[in-house]
Amino acid sequence: MLLGHDKIEILHLPTPLEHLKNISGDLGIDVWCKRDDLTNLATGGNKLRKLEYFLKDALDQGATMLITEGGAQTNHGRLTAAVAAKYGLRAAIVTEDEYPGEISANLLLDGMLGCDVHFVKDMETGRQAVIDKYTAEGEKVYYVPMGGSNELGILGYVECAMELDTQAGELGIEDATIYVTIGSMATYIGLLIGLKECGSKLGLVGVNVLPYGSAGQEEAELRKALNEYYARIKEFYGRDFGITDEDFVVTTAFIHGAYNNPVDEVREVMYYLARKEAIIIDPCYTGKTFEAIVAGARSGDIPAGSKVIFMHTGGLPGIYTKHHRVELEMELMQYMHIED
Ligand SMILES: *Cc1c(COP(=O)(O)O)cnc(C)c1O
Repeated sequence: MLLGHDKIEILHLPTPLEHLKNISGDLGIDVWCKRDDLTNLATGGNKLRKLEYFLKDALDQGATMLITEGGAQTNHGRLTAAVAAKYGLRAAIVTEDEYPGEISANLLLDGMLGCDVHFVKDMETGRQAVIDKYTAEGEKVYYVPMGGSNELGILGYVECAMELDTQAGELGIEDATIYVTIGSMATYIGLLIGLKECGSKLGLVGVNVLPYGSAGQEEAELRKALNEYYARIKEFYGRDFGITDEDFVVTTAFIHGAYNNPVDEVREVMYYLARKEAIIIDPCYTGKTFEAIVAGARSGDIPAGSKVIFMHTGGLPGIYTKHHRVELEMELMQYMHIED
């Protein structure tokens, strides 16, 4: 029970907190990795911790089906499909994106998991039409918000913060700073609340990868969105968690102009982590966050000897989406040695 809510235990927790020895030696800072990419369904990722709470809520309401929404390549949609498959529920994803012309990456996994994907022209009307269709077929639909991001979903990361605080204490790095991606904000704000709740000494930096405002306004708009989100959380739980605007330590320096775009610097740190530690990160989320750590260490913004925890939130299928894959293939062709 966490803040009055139960969950269904889907995951084998805690996830590992690993020291990245080769990267640490190279960067001159001490880097640890929280392996939430190793969560155990359908190639893993951060949405599974949120889904433990949504699944409980859905089953309590007698749901027979989970429906959610997002981009065509939503990691959250794939993991919602995974949880539905495992617990005998139907699943569907609604997206406003166009069909990308190929069934790759998350779409391939969605299909394998038996999840329907609806490409609609307009989300407002399309979402309701999809819900109505399955309801007419006799399903009791539970709607999971985009990114699993709401007052209930954050609990997965409130819990993760407490888990991390214990692990960091055992390893003697209780004053390290966590770097985590900000997308729909639930993971970041959940961690922030969890660290506050357990009186943790761990720091937290959020690396925004999804521009909330236009150029030059990104940080102001992100802060506004975080404050509004936090206000909704306080209202939902009927209490204050003691967080103020100053607690929102965030950077918008690694957005690179757009969400989920191919970026040279991001692919460079993806290769770096793969080649030093054999850990695979993704081009949309974790690549940009890891770039914040590497760039910070190299520039001295993260002082030598600092202790840093890189939160690996998953996203592996992202490397198999066409617009990222073509860039990767071009750069990696040099590793193919073909005898003629
Ligand atoms: C969704 C996602 C995030 C961002 O988490 P939010 O809770 O939406 O902020 C980070 N990494 C990966 C791989 C994701 O799929």
